[in-house]
Amino acid sequence: MRLLSCVGLSLLLVACDRNDSGPLPPEAESRVVVYTSRQSHLIEPLFERFTESTGIQVDYITDSEAPLIERLAAEGDRTQADVFMTVDAGNLWFATQREVLQPLDSSALAEAVPENLRDPDGHWFGLSIRARAIVYHPDRVDPEELSTYQALADEKWDDRLCLRTSRKVYNQSLVAMLIEHLGTEEAEQVVSGWVDNLAVPPFSSDTQMIQAVGAGRCDVGIANSYYLGRLQRDDEDYPVAIYWPNQETSGVHVNISGAGMTRHAPRPGNARKLIEWLASEAAQEEFASLNMEYPVLDGVELDPVVAAWGEFRHDPTNLAVAGERQSEAVRLMDRVGYR
Ligand code: FE
Repeated sequence: MRLLSCVGLSLLLVACDRNDSGPLPPEAESRVVVYTSRQSHLIEPLFERFTESTGIQVDYITDSEAPLIERLAAEGDRTQADVFMTVDAGNLWFATQREVLQPLDSSALAEAVPENLRDPDGHWFGLSIRARAIVYHPDRVDPEELSTYQALADEKWDDRLCLRTSRKVYNQSLVAMLIEHLGTEEAEQVVSGWVDNLAVPPFSSDTQMIQAVGAGRCDVGIANSYYLGRLQRDDEDYPVAIYWPNQETSGVHVNISGAGMTRHAPRPGNARKLIEWLASEAAQEEFASLNMEYPVLDGVELDPVVAAWGEFRHDPTNLAVAGERQSEAVRLMDRVGYR
């Protein structure tokens, strides 16, 4: 009891220190508030299990990442949000630039999350890995013909390539990494070659793009593997296959879904507990398999559809580069007419 009242007192002191309008109500300390761009069905089962194991209730709101980041910026130190969760390192990097996240020094996260999948300063941590692969129609393409993202600029793919729009951060991050590895000039030749090879105008979603490959409107494309996973889960004979590119060079371009502690988190202790729990063995298998992604934690079982795609080598470059080079990538894609 004595311990409890000491804890209570220290919480009150923390609360008094950070809040002009008086201490937070005691129940506020047994919750954590998340702003997230992820869909409810991908996170709610995990939040429920977190509450079961810790007694901390998770309240969350969902919206697109840009409005959530602006909301955090506008709310400043009046925010109720403790954790920001989204997809793509480009978005997490932007949230860091916008100063709505704070560094979290956690040995548990440093151990669980590979170094290239988290911010060097601790503002954000990858919690699942998404791989951007080449997809192809197995009746129209021999996988022996495939090698790298760059090689899809070859003339032999003229009128055979499908892409998603350049407006989506996924392709901005991919091109940012191409610039990092090849330099601007060569990356520009590659992306220009892709545009020349398009069979149809870019699609607004990865799923539509994969479906165009499946329907034979084009032969190859570039997509996040989980979109193909969803189609294959519903139809095991779905006529699109996956190819892991750049195995002899830079590795497959991977990205993350991830989270960071908000700059003015009212409950930083609970924010830490939630993010650490999501990266732990207790959560990783379900976290990854809910969206057919890859766990960040080593040794965690994969969804069977995902496991069937085999192992591959990732690009080990720190994903912060995807953010740092994002505006360069957007300008490059504009220059070559990639819509
Ligand atoms: Fe996605």
